[in-house]
Amino acid sequence: KFIAFEGGEGTGKSTQARLLTEYLQSKGISTVLTREPGGTAGAEAIRSLLLDPPGEGWGARAEALLFAAARSDHVEKLIRPGIAADKWVICDRFLDSSRAYQGGAGGVGDNAVLSLHEVGSDGLRPDLTILISVPPATIAARLAERDGDTSDAIGGRSAEYHAEVASTFLNLAKSEPDRFFEIDGDGTAKDVHQRVLAVLEPLLGA
Ligand code: C5P
Repeated sequence: KFIAFEGGEGTGKSTQARLLTEYLQSKGISTVLTREPGGTAGAEAIRSLLLDPPGEGWGARAEALLFAAARSDHVEKLIRPGIAADKWVICDRFLDSSRAYQGGAGGVGDNAVLSLHEVGSDGLRPDLTILISVPPATIAARLAERDGDTSDAIGGRSAEYHAEVASTFLNLAKSEPDRFFEIDGDGTAKDVHQRVLAVLEPLLGA
C-alpha cells in the first residue's frame, strides 16, 4: 500500500506520517516512512537545492522540474520497490504537493505538472491521500511557536501564495474523492491520529 500525507506547512503532516508508521509497525506491518522532496540520496541532494537555492532562486517551472526529478528517483529506488515488497509506504508529501504549490500557486498549471509526473514516475498515484486541513490562524500560531515566524509570509512566500496552495489542495480532493480523504488537523496530534486511523480502518482489515 502507498499512503501519502498532504497539506501546507504547519498542518502536522510529518507528525501524522510518523504516528501512523509507528502504529502500523506496532501491528507487525512492514512499513517504510519517507518524505518529499527527498527519500533517496539523489532526491535529498535536490531537496537541498530547492530549500537553499543558489543565486536569486528558482522560478516555478524550474521548481516543478526539480521536484519531478527528485520524485522520479524516489519512486524508482524506494517507493516502487517498497510497494513490490508488499510493504506499506508512508510518504510525507507526494505529487499533489507539486500540483498545489507549483501547479496552482506557482501558476505552472495542473496539466504540466501531471505531464512531468507521467514522464518522471509513470504517473504513480498513492492508494490513499490524506489531506490535513487546518484554519490559517491556527497554522500561523503553530509556525510562530515552531520557527519564531510571526509574519504572514511563510518560508519567504506570501500569505496569498499559501492561500492558493490550500484552495488548490481542496479542489484536488474534490476532483478525486475516491483517493483523497480530508482530515481536520485541529486539536492535538493524538486527536488527529485517531481521525487518520478511522479513515484507514477499511484498509487495515483488508
Ligand atoms: O512542509 P515540508 O517541510 O514538507 O516542505 C518543505 C518545503 O518545501 C516547504 O517550504 C514547502 O512549502 C516546500 N514545497 C514546495 N513545493 C512542493 C513541496 C514542498 O514548495 N511541491
